[in-house]
Amino acid sequence: MTILVTGGAGYIGSHAAVELLKKGHNIVILDNLSNSNFESINRIRELTDKDFPFYNCDLLDRDKLNTIFEIHNFDSVIHFAGLKSVGESVEIPLKYYQNNIIGTINLCDLMAKHDVKKLVFSSSATVYGHPNKVPIDESFPLSSTNPYGRTKLMIEDILRDLYTSDTSWRIALLRYFNPIGAHESGRIGENPNGIPNNLMPYITQVAIEKREKLFVFGKDYETHDGTGVRDFIHVIDLVKGHLKALQYLDENEGVEAFNLGTGSGYSVLDIIDTFSMINKKDIPYEFVDRRPGDVAICYANPAKAEEMLGWRAEKDLKEMCKDSLKWQTDNPYGYE
Ligand code: NAD
Ligand code: UDP
Repeated sequence: MTILVTGGAGYIGSHAAVELLKKGHNIVILDNLSNSNFESINRIRELTDKDFPFYNCDLLDRDKLNTIFEIHNFDSVIHFAGLKSVGESVEIPLKYYQNNIIGTINLCDLMAKHDVKKLVFSSSATVYGHPNKVPIDESFPLSSTNPYGRTKLMIEDILRDLYTSDTSWRIALLRYFNPIGAHESGRIGENPNGIPNNLMPYITQVAIEKREKLFVFGKDYETHDGTGVRDFIHVIDLVKGHLKALQYLDENEGVEAFNLGTGSGYSVLDIIDTFSMINKKDIPYEFVDRRPGDVAICYANPAKAEEMLGWRAEKDLKEMCKDSLKWQTDNPYGYE
């Protein structure tokens, strides 16, 4: 039984690969390295002492993808590959629609052709748009505020249509909240290009003095301290949810969405405080205007994943802050 991991050189995919190999699964990684580095593949091998095939392949290259399906007898696919920057998706929407949607259609088409019908898809809490209350459960109305979010919504719809057309598919739509942290070894982690868009990589770059200070986007939200609140989840907990989802799909047909979050919301200032306390590092910051499009508060009700997958997040915010900084300190220039 072999699992195809698309986007396995990336942040979440590399952690998933380590977890899968540790649990004794055979994997094949496919990635076009458009937002990652081959060094992460070396590190996965180093951490697990296991080898696996890696293909530098673009999901848009149907012929090459077909050859990979011909060589390997896949049992299932975990589909991480995709472009993920909200801001960039506003600037180059066609690239996002082409990469994420056509890439996923190619993948599913070849899965069907080769009779591989088990799929775990990386969706996002962004599909809840601007939720009018929290915690968010899977039955909340879906909407999107930017092209990136729309690719996730459209792919969820495509996958639901696929199941309707052929009920032998088994599909898990995993809606991630805010993954942070890194493998405790500090050997793999998040490796953003240029100025980080997301909070934690920005904070860790301030902590190692690569950046002068953090800009906190907004201080007048209706939250306990005025700053935005999110459901931060350790990437290791997150990837364990994928293994549980694969087990679930072994036993159940259908298409099912699951929130992967902790169920707790922390504000930007909470994160700064915990990070400074656990790592004994001051994080200088300055309040600036709200970031357009940001929601005030977003956290999951993760009860469905607990009931149906037997999964819940275990690592706390301190571990997330500690592991994030270890990765950044040990790799100040990422994988380069
Ligand atoms: P990442 O950019 O680190 O990893 C994605 C990987 O996919 C990269 O290695 C990239 O090179 C590869 N890729 C992109 N397009 C490809 C293509 N056409 N063919 C082959 N490979 C391609 O991102 P990540 O943070 O690991 O995210 C993984 C998935 O989870 C993405 O689909 C993302 O949208 C989703 N997600 C991420 C977050 C987050 O905060 N990190 C939150 C919600 C959902
Ligand atoms: N944020 C911030 N400064 C930054 C990056 C993010 O104040 O440099 C805030 C952002 O406004 C939001 C929270 O941190 O309230 C989480 O942002 P992130 O981009 O990490 O996740 P997302 O908004 O996509 O959930």
